[in-house]
Formats: sequence, structure tokens, C-alpha cells
Amino acid sequence: MTSKKWPEIALAAFDATVTSTPGLRPRPGQRATATLVAETLSSAALGKTEEGQPIPAPAIAVIQAGTGVGKSLAYSAPAIALALERGTRVLISTATVALQEQLVHKDLPALAAQLPTPFRYALAKGRGRFVCKLKLERLASSHAQEEIDDLLGDLAPVPAPISSAQQQVRLKLYTSMADALARSVWDGDRDSLETPPEPEVWGPIAAEGSSCTGRHCPAFGNCSYFERRKELVAAQVIVVNHDLLLSSLGARLLPELHSSLLILDEAHHLPATALSQFACSMDLSRLQWLDKLASRALRIGQLLEVAEIADIPTHTGGLRQHLGQLAQAISQEYGAALQAPASRFAPARARVPGGVLPETLLPPLAAVAEHASGLLEALRAIAKALRTAIKEQPDDAQQLAQLYAQLGSLAPRLEAVYATTELLQYQPSTPGAAPAAKWFSQEMDGEFIALSAHASPLLPGSTLRQQLWSQVRGAVLTSATLTSGGGFDFFLREAGLADLPQVQTLEVESPFRYAEQGRLIAHHTRADPREAAAFTQEMVHALLHDLAQVQAGALVLFTSREQMRQAVDALPSHLLHQVLVQNTLPRASLLATHRERVQAGQVSIIFGMQSFGEGLDLPGDLCASLFITKLPFAPPDDPVGEARADWLRSSGRNPFNDLVVPATAIRLAQWMGRAIRTEHDHAQVVCYDRRLLQTSYGQQLCKSLPPFAIEKRFSPH
Ligand code: SF4
Repeated sequence: MTSKKWPEIALAAFDATVTSTPGLRPRPGQRATATLVAETLSSAALGKTEEGQPIPAPAIAVIQAGTGVGKSLAYSAPAIALALERGTRVLISTATVALQEQLVHKDLPALAAQLPTPFRYALAKGRGRFVCKLKLERLASSHAQEEIDDLLGDLAPVPAPISSAQQQVRLKLYTSMADALARSVWDGDRDSLETPPEPEVWGPIAAEGSSCTGRHCPAFGNCSYFERRKELVAAQVIVVNHDLLLSSLGARLLPELHSSLLILDEAHHLPATALSQFACSMDLSRLQWLDKLASRALRIGQLLEVAEIADIPTHTGGLRQHLGQLAQAISQEYGAALQAPASRFAPARARVPGGVLPETLLPPLAAVAEHASGLLEALRAIAKALRTAIKEQPDDAQQLAQLYAQLGSLAPRLEAVYATTELLQYQPSTPGAAPAAKWFSQEMDGEFIALSAHASPLLPGSTLRQQLWSQVRGAVLTSATLTSGGGFDFFLREAGLADLPQVQTLEVESPFRYAEQGRLIAHHTRADPREAAAFTQEMVHALLHDLAQVQAGALVLFTSREQMRQAVDALPSHLLHQVLVQNTLPRASLLATHRERVQAGQVSIIFGMQSFGEGLDLPGDLCASLFITKLPFAPPDDPVGEARADWLRSSGRNPFNDLVVPATAIRLAQWMGRAIRTEHDHAQVVCYDRRLLQTSYGQQLCKSLPPFAIEKRFSPH
């Protein structure tokens, strides 16, 4: 049921917050955003649909709000007021940790101080970020070397040998963590440790779902993860990230989407997140885990007298045999391509054209899927018996829960085998529909040749339609960069919203005076940017000349590691000590050093790649100069991108115009967005890629950029 008053209530909360917050002043763009948020979320038909009833179309607003609009207040104030009025909750999903932290530590506390009705908010994190008390206690108290080796070995396909000295260090660390947990001086959250452990140390003690019996676990009452979940249950506003949002669909970690109001900030990341979330892969050559899983399953199944274990030897043998046959068939079909690495940093790869697998692969693939499914069934029966036994034999609960964890730590690999074989076998049933992207990769892992199979959905839009929008009733998607070539079409297609009936779009200009505040110098090199070697040489020469003029903070964005390496190698000594290179320091330390230097009046220049082109807030002198070394096209060795391009070509479309240019426009607008962060900033941007002004697609890219004053500059002859 909808109420005519809801939009008014939502908007009144926004207006009151703006009026009562010192330092805020009314901004028309921000109010326009708040108005659409209020109207859209008010019209959402929340609630579970009765069986047989049609699912209502979601009410969705897609809002591009330029930098400085103040969009987090524009969506959170009306959405939260409305949720409180409607007795429901708001989920705010972001792409970056930086924005999550801003929301949880700054924006939401400020809003909570202003809104008349109190509300609680909480940050949802993946369960793998919390410690499993049961596993930690086992490792901390275990002095049997084999037991520790066994547990640690579950995580790697081929466990790397570690010295007994390293083992002792780990054991000491686990013991001190268990002690800190017992004394309540640590809350079990990996992020709250002073020095977060390396993945190989954290992995064996992480609270993964597959190894957890939940309320049956004897440590459930003191479990860090479930304690945090209680906070989520009590919160009216939950901040989450896109990965966790998509991976939790159907997992009951977050509130039901059909009864919540959903905000997706940094929404331009949603399509890529969807593709990576629903992609899967399996290892075809390192199968030690399979025997280990089978022997554990047999041992535990015998103990509990589970009848289904009778099939385990057949399925394990079948899996080994057919995975071997599959690997052999792949090597025969794609041997040559799998010998040649894609680049210095990537394994050799062979993509399946059109997603149509050679006939020789089909029988072993079907057999692998069948045996994986059979073995999964047996594991499910054992897991069920374990849960029952824990309930019925509380005295043995500790030991039984440990057995569950042993089984659960390897089960995800079997699930990955099943999911990958299913997607590899997928063929569209309707003509013209998109196939799946399928590819194989091979690399050396020590002495082993590791062959893997991969599959991914091709179109993020259809995946999001099926998995996300089918459950959502009301949502707002927002970002500073959603349009490309001046329209929303590309984003709506990518996000699966193009044909939904209740989708409204709004573009809100930034309040900044870009033409006065920013200058874009389009540098025209003699070398063609497509000729990597000659271009990089000339670009680096021009860049070094420009860097010598920098007076405060600067950011240089590169499109590849190799390009950045060449620029670093060419730095003269007087510049070398002013440059901070991505990955040579943890990101937070690098940014802190940059701030300190600039605040002390020194020159500081950050060299970074794609991840530094987004979400980095460097106002004022921290980024008075921005250098874009080349247009940020997607990496050429992305198999899903290649498969999409192939499919578009086969459907008579032009992948460059339909996919590459619009995606690059969004990326470039993000990069340019690093330059001006407040209405007092002034910045100069230099782009060394002459294609920006010289080509017709460059003109398309320009339409998505802030309207800086543009100057042309030529390399000297
Ligand atoms: S409830 Fe689950 S995550 Fe928590 S301690 Fe027990 S097994 Fe570990």
C-alpha cells in the first residue's frame, strides 16, 4: 500500500536536515536528487509476492550527480526517513571501502544527529573477515604438526612448504589472537587487528560459511561473526558493498530485498561486479584436495553411519578420471595457445570462440558434472547428519563441529567444479541470445603445470535482471559517472534496466565552475598512441618535463604496469624522491605520506594505475595537477570482454562503438574527476593521448568529461 504523504515526509526530512546543519546551504541539484529519491522509493511496492501473483516491477531511479552535489545526503535523508515511516530498512551499497567508511563514520552519524526519529546503522562485512573461534582454538591449542599442516593445506591447491620456524611464528600468532579474543580485547574482526595477517595466515581461521554449523556450533554464543550479525538485525540502515550484496543473494545475510529500500552508490561499478561475482573456475590438474575430501567424508560418514557414503568412492574415482580426460582433451584442442603466456603477468590462455566447445570436451565435461553433483549430495547428507548429531549429543558438540569444519573447508572446491561445469555446458536456447564466455588457462606453479577452466556470463545486464532486479522493489542507483556520450543508454543496458517499465533517469550538474576552475591540456604527441614503444618513450619525455614544473601535489595515472615502470625508470634523481609509486607502500601509508608532504609545502607526486583513478579524494593542493598518460581503454587481455566483442560482431554490431567507447568514457570521467574536488579547487589536467581530440570517438569521450577549458599543445619537433 502506498501513501500520498510518503514523498512529502521523505523530502521534509531532507529539507530539515539541510536547514539545521551548520555549514550546509540549499543546492538545487541536491534537492532535485532528494526529490526523485523520495518519489521513487515512496512508490516501491514492498513486500513478499504471494505465489501465483505477478511480481511488481521495481521502482528505480538512476541519478548521475556530479562531484559536489552532495548526493550521500540527498539519498540517505529521504530514504531513511521513509524507511522509518514505512517500518522497513535501507541498504546502502558502495563499491569502495573509502565510501563505506565515509558513510559509517561521517555521513550517517551526522544525519542521525539531525533526524528527529533515532535510527541505528551498521556496516555489513563478509563473514570471511571475522575469525572462527572454533578453528582458532583448534589451531592455537594444536601441537601436532600434521594437524596444523593438514588444516593449512586445505587452502592451497598445492600447499607451499613452510619451515618449522614459520610454523612456530604462526602458532604463536594464533595463540595470541585466541588469548585476545578470550580477554575481549579483540572483537574478532580482521580489520581491527593492528597488523592484519597475510591471507595464508588468516585463511585457516576465517569464519567461512561452508565450515560453520551456525547455531549448532558450541562457540555460537560467543561467535564474533554472529555477534556482528545481531547488530545488523537491529539496524535500520545497513551499509554494504556491491560484492557482498550480490554474493549474499538468497543467503539470508542481509534483509530481504523485496522488503527493503536499496541505494546503490558508485553504481557504475555494478555491472563489472556482477560479472565477476557470477564467473567461476576450476583447477584441472591439482587434485590432492579431492582425495583428502573423500577420505574425510568417508571417515565422518562411517562414524555417523550415513548410508550415502557408499557412493563416495565411485564419484571420487569418476571425478578424478574424467577431470583427467577433460584436461587431456583441452590440451589436445588448445595445446599451442596454452603454451604462450598472454603477457609477462598473465597465464597462457585459450578462449572458446562463440562459447561452443569442441565435441571432444563434452562427454568428460558431462561426466564431471554428474560425479560432482553425486559427491555434493553425499556431502550434504553427511553435513545434515553432523548437525543432527551436534543437537542430539551436546557433550560431543565441540568435536563434531570440528569435523563439520574439516569437511566444509574443502567443499567449496567441489562446488566450484560443479558450477564451472554447468556454465561450461551452457548453450543459449534461443537464437541470437548471448552464450557464456569460456576459456582455459595454464601456468607454472612451482614444478606443477596448472591447467584451469573458466566460465562467465557474458552480459551483466541479463545476470542482474535475473539475480537482483527480480527481488528488488525500490532502488536508487547513483554515481558521478553514469552517462556516456551524453546519455544513460549504455549504463541502463549494462545494469539490466533498459527495458524495465518504472525506471527514471536524472542528470544533475556539478555546482563547480569547471571552465574557470580547471584547464585541460590536450598534448599532441608525434607518435601514435597505438604504437606502444614509440608513444611511451615520447610521452615519458613530455611527462618528465611537466613534472619538473609541479609545485604541490600531483597525480599521474597510467594504463599499464609496464608503462608506469618505464616512467619510474626514467625519473631523474631530483624527481625520484618526490614520487610515490603505487604498490611500493600500502595505499593508506602512501596517501598519508603524500598529505604530509604537501601540507609541509613540499612537492609530492603519486604514480598510480586504474584503482587510483577512482575513489581518491585529493582536494586542494593535494592534486593541483593531474596527468593522464593514455586513454584508459579496458585491458586488451580480458577474456569476457573479448567474448562480448565477438558476440556483438556476430550480431552485426560494432563492439568498439557499442562497448569499448562508452565504457572508456565512464572510466575517463572518473579519472578526470580526481582533479576538482571542491568549489575552491583549481587544477590542471594534461592528457598525452592525442586521440582525445583527433578522433570521432575522442569527441564522444569528451561529452562525458567536466567542461574544462581546453588547450592544445604539441610535442616539439
Ligand atoms: S558459529 Fe560458525 S563461525 Fe562461529 S565459531 Fe562456530 S563454526 Fe566458527
